[in-house]
Amino acid sequence: PVRVRFAPSPTGNLHVGGARTALFNYLFARSNGGKFVLRIEDTDLERSTKESEEAVLNDLSWLGLDWDEGPGVDGDYGPYRQSERNTLYKQYAEKLLESGHVYCCFCSSEELEKMKEIWANATDKEVQEELERGTPYTYRFRVPKEGSLKINDLIQGEVSWNLNTLGDFVIMRSNGQPVYNFCVTVDDATMAISHVIRAEEHLPNTLRQALIYKALGFQMPDCAHVSLILAPDRSKLSKRHGATSVGQYREMGYLPQAMVNYLALLGWVEKFSIGRVNKSGAIFDSTKLRWMNGQHLRAPPSEQLTKLIGEQWKSTGILAEAEGSFIEEAVQLLKDGIDITPDSDKALSNLLSYPLHDTLSSVEAKPVLEDKLSEFAASFIAAYDSGELVGALEEGHAGWQKWVKSFGKSLKRKGKSLFMPLRVLLTGKLHGPDMRTSVLLLHKAGKSGIIAPLAG
Ligand code: GLU
Repeated sequence: PVRVRFAPSPTGNLHVGGARTALFNYLFARSNGGKFVLRIEDTDLERSTKESEEAVLNDLSWLGLDWDEGPGVDGDYGPYRQSERNTLYKQYAEKLLESGHVYCCFCSSEELEKMKEIWANATDKEVQEELERGTPYTYRFRVPKEGSLKINDLIQGEVSWNLNTLGDFVIMRSNGQPVYNFCVTVDDATMAISHVIRAEEHLPNTLRQALIYKALGFQMPDCAHVSLILAPDRSKLSKRHGATSVGQYREMGYLPQAMVNYLALLGWVEKFSIGRVNKSGAIFDSTKLRWMNGQHLRAPPSEQLTKLIGEQWKSTGILAEAEGSFIEEAVQLLKDGIDITPDSDKALSNLLSYPLHDTLSSVEAKPVLEDKLSEFAASFIAAYDSGELVGALEEGHAGWQKWVKSFGKSLKRKGKSLFMPLRVLLTGKLHGPDMRTSVLLLHKAGKSGIIAPLAG
């Protein structure tokens, strides 16, 4: 059965690259009827924090990448935090000592570089003497001195290493602390992981882990090393390219579905298959993510968007209420200009902020309202002040249409020469969403007391 795992180290926030690795594991499990295991790799006690673990779990949940086993979800292979698995590591280290795959190494760290493998061929008697003397020792893995090791990575293809360059490595420190690569191997084996899908940067670890697998007599899982996420300039994605953590995107108002879909293949995914994951680095382009978020925002039935944006407007204090026909109409009017929810704040305040006197002197309005248009402006203000325009608006779309027609007639204007200055007078802008709807909406907003735009 397919069992995969995502194994974050809780030393910071969930990076978009980590999220992509988690997603690949999740998709692989789901598309193969397998299990998605979450394992917390907190062996680095100094850098691991509970807050970071919580944040990572929270980010994964937000993305909808729910795990079948792991913290908070019981399974047959727990515990799922490395810090709680020490007995197990100890047990397997002893096993390796018995089988001769590791040896006790009494070198102090200063001696280490010079005489790394000096204890590899010590006699039982020599070892016994050191033990009795109480000399601290590590468990050091005996790496074969010749030959090579080859794996068939599902993404990278065939990868091979010469063993003579590696040198014997420590699997357990003198204080009894197991070393990272050893923990990962014991965990993956004892958690019955079938496929290891992880970031490319872990490829060098795979060599050590493969040797430990073999020594313990475990079958090595299949490996898939996923390429790094790069910035549009093909450099490593970092803070200077903008937000890099999942939490930052959440706070900016992105939708989890957009994030997931974007990360999946940095494009749309119909059906996930590991063979279709690209070997070269994938470009993370936040502009495209933004665009995709807009698509996700507008794709579901419009009530969803209305609800989301209504809540946004209420929470930022632009409007007093989170629902109502005003909001429905405003969302319909403005939605094409909204890619992430907070965009709606600016869109609405642009629409609502046009006190008439400001408009007449606004920079954008000036060129349109120059001398030869002063007659136009004067007529408009007269129509507004007399209540004629407001009266027409009371009658809705039909009233507005009738008024515009007769207003145009009185000034001998129609088409662009009528609508451009009218738009500027009414909205303070040269461009914007459909004017008829905007004006009716504004009128409604003014009347309902949500906001008082026509009071200027
Ligand atoms: N804990 C490692 C990390 O956060 C992952 C190790 C693995 O997947 O094997 O980078």
